[in-house]
Amino acid sequence: ANGHQVRVRFAPSPTGNLHVGGARTALFNWLYARKTGGKFILRIEDTDTARSTRASEEAMIRDLKWLGLDWDEGPDVGGGCGPYRQSERTDIYKAQVEKLVAAGKAYPCFCTDEDLEAMKKEAEERKLPPIYRGKWATATPEEVDQAKAKGLPYCYRFRVPPNQEIRIHDLIRGEVTWNTDTLGDFVVLRSNGMPVYNFCVAVDDALMGITHVLRAEEHLPNTLRQMLIYQALGFPVPQFGHVSLILAPDKSKLSKRHGATSVGEFRNQGYLAPAMLNFLSLLGWNDGTEQEIFTVDELTSKFGLERITKSAAVFDKVKLGWMNGQH
Ligand code: GLU
Repeated sequence: ANGHQVRVRFAPSPTGNLHVGGARTALFNWLYARKTGGKFILRIEDTDTARSTRASEEAMIRDLKWLGLDWDEGPDVGGGCGPYRQSERTDIYKAQVEKLVAAGKAYPCFCTDEDLEAMKKEAEERKLPPIYRGKWATATPEEVDQAKAKGLPYCYRFRVPPNQEIRIHDLIRGEVTWNTDTLGDFVVLRSNGMPVYNFCVAVDDALMGITHVLRAEEHLPNTLRQMLIYQALGFPVPQFGHVSLILAPDKSKLSKRHGATSVGEFRNQGYLAPAMLNFLSLLGWNDGTEQEIFTVDELTSKFGLERITKSAAVFDKVKLGWMNGQH
């Protein structure tokens, strides 16, 4: 509908600080939007109310602004646009769940935790995958009405089509395929009325017209559920690019024991934003030459998805220090 304009997003969960991995994801999306004349959207994924905080959201926004990563759209907050917040969009998700239910692609499930536990045990004993194959998938309308009349709590589950091959052509990872038999009927709306994470992501990416979903590799397994949701709701499928992990110099997972890992810590240590951006840009991307020092303008013109590397990036603070001296 929007022609060929690129629309990308950064979708952090506000449960902590902006880490270098998140900042790198934000930067790649932002550079791609700026390079192509597209739009960059900031979406706060705060449906997990127990873990999400406004303080974390504000800190992330402060760090994005410090890096110069500005967004182009969002609800009007007087004099500018705010980020989208999933917590303010629950009616949208519920309307989409209703569409699924009306089409028989989602159904109410009244299983209790004990029921689920018993099913899991049985699956274990029979060496089947621990996935939902419960009775509510095939319950009659009368059974559903009876359970509702008893006032039993229920969630909605997505009806996973059996034995289907789901395939994506990931811009970085190449072809990825799944078989739907690895997946049980998953919850889309909890009994407390809150939609689940994968459902919100898929609905938002579709309704926001996102053309390219560039995000960390750890989200690749979620793509199967999201693909099924696109398919069931008749949404166009975006292009996916799952960016490789960032490792510490010793090739272990980057963590607190390696020292500062959040953008705020580096800023407090006196690093300069242009140096930080330059450093982040080379965590999994290069321009095909030996050049390592880039201004933001150079990055914007040189950046492209085809030179995002498939192998893990190494987080080398010595290099960051050196870059800081060059900017
Ligand atoms: N909210 C997710 C996170 O912070 C990102 C989801 C996505 O990019 O699809 O890890």
